Amino acid sequence: MIPGGATQSCPCGGLPAGATLATCCGPFVTRETWPPTPETLMRSRYTAYAVGNPDHVFRTWHPETRPAEVDLDSSVEWIGLRVVEVSGDDVEGVVEFTARWRSGAGSAGQSGAMSERSTFVRRAGRWFYRDGVAPSD
Ligand SMILES: [Zn+2]
Repeated sequence: MIPGGATQSCPCGGLPAGATLATCCGPFVTRETWPPTPETLMRSRYTAYAVGNPDHVFRTWHPETRPAEVDLDSSVEWIGLRVVEVSGDDVEGVVEFTARWRSGAGSAGQSGAMSERSTFVRRAGRWFYRDGVAPSD
C-alpha cells in the first residue's frame, strides 16, 4: 500500500475517473497484482512515474526493449494523464495518451506535455510495454 493511497485520487486520473490510488494503480505499483489490460498497465506505469517508483516501470517493460536500468528524473512532476485511444486484441494493444508535466518552481518553472502511442504485448499471460512512437497527427 502506498501511504495515503486510500484517500488520494489516483495520479492517472482514475479508472473509473476519480478512483483512489488504492483502488486503481496502487495494487499494480506495489506488486499485489499485475495490470489485466494494456490500458491499466499504461496507467500504472504513468502512476509509477508520478509516485517515483522506477521498479514498476522496469518490470512492466518488455525484456527485449527495456533499458538496463530505469532512472526517473525526480525534478519532473507528472501532473495529469489523458488516455486518448485504446485499441488492440488479446495479444497486442495500443494506447495513445498525453501526459502533462512540470519542473522547477516560480518563474524558473517549466511545463509541457508528451504524447505517445504505446504498444503493449502479452507474454506468458502478462502485458508488457514494448515501445512507443509519437502520434502521427
Ligand atoms: Zn490509476
